[in-house]
Amino acid sequence: MNTLEHELRSRFGARLEAHRPLADLTSFQIGGPADLFITAETEDELMAVMAAAYRHGATAMCLGAGTNLLVSDRGVRGLVVKLGAGLARIVIDGANVVAGAAMQFGALVEAVVDRGLAGLEFGEGIPGTVGGGLVMNAGAFGGEMARVVTLVHGVTVAGEARALTKDDVKFAYRRTDLPPRFIITRVDFALAPGDREALRSRVAELRAKRASRQPRGLPNAGSVFKNPPGGYAGRLLESAGLKGERMGGAAFSGQHANFIVNLGGARAAEVRALIDLARSKVMALSGVALEPEVRMIGEW
Ligand SMILES: Cc1cc2nc3c(=O)[nH]c(=O)nc-3n(C[C@H](O)[C@H](O)[C@H](O)COP(=O)(O)OP(=O)(O)OC[C@H]3O[C@@H](n4cnc5c(N)ncnc54)[C@H](O)[C@@H]3O)c2cc1C
Repeated sequence: MNTLEHELRSRFGARLEAHRPLADLTSFQIGGPADLFITAETEDELMAVMAAAYRHGATAMCLGAGTNLLVSDRGVRGLVVKLGAGLARIVIDGANVVAGAAMQFGALVEAVVDRGLAGLEFGEGIPGTVGGGLVMNAGAFGGEMARVVTLVHGVTVAGEARALTKDDVKFAYRRTDLPPRFIITRVDFALAPGDREALRSRVAELRAKRASRQPRGLPNAGSVFKNPPGGYAGRLLESAGLKGERMGGAAFSGQHANFIVNLGGARAAEVRALIDLARSKVMALSGVALEPEVRMIGEW
């Protein structure tokens, strides 16, 4: 047993899991094991876990709902931390909202719309957690996290609590520039008072739009590539003939070329091979370097 495992085991007992398969914690349903895995239920627990990993020189990464991840078949070395129910709470004070990083983004959207608060309707149907959405600067239909966030609270790589302003976070298209290995615990939003019924119909409209555009039924991780400036990744992929292209158990969706689906038993290496193939075909045909939106993590 290594020393980090020993230290965490003595505090958390069986809550610390070794060689924990991650596939069932991702929307792709793909991926090997984490060396060590733990769910931190409170900020204090998270601080203790991070401080221990830091002391032992181990890397610790946070897994949200795994809806934007491709975990390698070999899995993740070091410690994977998930946030538990204690970090999924919401506090609404007028138009100011504080949401725990483990809260489902969809549940946050529903809660604020119910209170007649505007600004997060774009999030309807974006799966994942508030923390994952913040890291990815999740967005859709012209909206994005960056517009409504005021403060981001979390724990540093060394296990210290820290709050970051919007400027510290440096939001960009589907990315942020957080300090290395920073784990978000909660996010402050400034929303605007709105008409509840009007917000509900906007959300229903976005739900219908999404349902008509996205493939359903097979495991996937949403858009594989970011849209290049002024264009659409889906169109470039379709022009390059990638719709339906298959590699083992993985294939570009026949419905939306920018989605890769797991047809059953797909391996991360097969998804990655499809990603590489698509990038080289699109580059050869259109001269555009597609950038993956899906994050590839673990040992490749
Ligand atoms: C069907 C489908 C539709 C989608 N549609 C959209 C869309 O319209 N718009 C959009 O932007 N995205 C979309 N996505 C992608 C995905 O849902 C978002 O990127 C989402 O915000 C990821 O959240 P998550 O909790 O699943 O994060 P994960 O996938 O678990 O993690 C993503 C990254 O965030 C990090 N992370 C997660 N939580 C924390 C935390 N608390 N602290 C620090 N780091 C953390 C992880 O380490 C990883 O680097 C879609 C995905 C699917 C499957």
